[in-house]
Amino acid sequence: MNQEDAVNRAIEDVVDLHRNRFTLLKEAKKPKIGWVTIYTPEEILLAAGVIPFRLTGEVGLNSTEPSAILGNNYCSYVLSCLGEGLAGVYDFADGIIFADACDMRKRLWEAWAREIPSNKSYFLEFPNDASDISKEYFASQLRKLIKILEREYECEITGEALRQSIKVCNESRTLMQRLFKNKKGERLALSGPESIQVVKAASTGMKESFNTKISALIDVLETAEQPPARDRHRVMICGSYFDHSEIIETIEGAGADFVCGDISNGVKYFEGNIDLNSDPVTAIADYYLEKNTSAYRLDTDVRVEHLLDLVEEYQVDSVIYYALKFCDTNLHDFPYVKEKLKEEKIPVLFIEGERNTTNFGGTKTRIQTFLEARMF
Ligand code: SF4
Repeated sequence: MNQEDAVNRAIEDVVDLHRNRFTLLKEAKKPKIGWVTIYTPEEILLAAGVIPFRLTGEVGLNSTEPSAILGNNYCSYVLSCLGEGLAGVYDFADGIIFADACDMRKRLWEAWAREIPSNKSYFLEFPNDASDISKEYFASQLRKLIKILEREYECEITGEALRQSIKVCNESRTLMQRLFKNKKGERLALSGPESIQVVKAASTGMKESFNTKISALIDVLETAEQPPARDRHRVMICGSYFDHSEIIETIEGAGADFVCGDISNGVKYFEGNIDLNSDPVTAIADYYLEKNTSAYRLDTDVRVEHLLDLVEEYQVDSVIYYALKFCDTNLHDFPYVKEKLKEEKIPVLFIEGERNTTNFGGTKTRIQTFLEARMF
């Protein structure tokens, strides 16, 4: 097998975890709990012997039933997740955990609890800032969650079990940080769509398997001959839930590179690590609250600083700010973020879209025009 085939096979092996997630999850002899925000403490679920997997909404994209229940003015990530739930896609799961990450996900929890009672649902209070008092409060909410899981699964979630699950999740994050560093060179190790698929594979909850597969991918990439350098325009995407391969293909088709996604299917999911030397519950609470760079957190300046750090780290030339229709938090932040990026002379293209876009032509032309004006 030549090097290119070996790399492609290793990528496919990782991506298969996401592609085959329903079969793999159904086969696993462990309880499974779904989640809808990257602020869900997967470490605690893992310590209870539960597989924590993300709801992606991919199977519920075409259903009209969620709009009839929630209304049309909801973001299409929330509507598609509810569509999956109503269609029974998660009947194999023990339940779904929701967190107070934005208003729409709160409403999603209410609708889920009412319309899909066969799936147990749990709502986790999640403070909007990283102050000491918020961290203390969030740690108390995590202890409450631990007690519920212990009762439900007749287990004891010990400090040692938590430390072990933190170790496994830290390893996943560290490996993804290493893999995505391969993108910082002159040429990308993964294509844009592949990088999103890899993050989705990480969020299927099968952490050990993911760590083994991604280690194998990194080994193949690091021993492969380095491709020749290339100098292409470098684009970052930030904003709402993003899983839009057409947009990335348009960027790459125009001759630019998608180098960084400040999105939940991108670096946001695997930034930082949890301190293994502190009390595990406190360390988990601190980690999730300090990762306060999303639109629905209170301090927009923290988000802006984080974006500027990413621009520098990934040598970004321009930014595409993608907001799902009705994603109030991202729509509300946009004028301020744009102004701040403009002050740093970073061009920004704003796109408001839906997950299920049938008429992509107009967006495609806007991306091409935006990039061409900056590349030639
Ligand atoms: S896309 Fe926006 S509105 Fe929808 S769940 Fe995410 S943050 Fe909330």
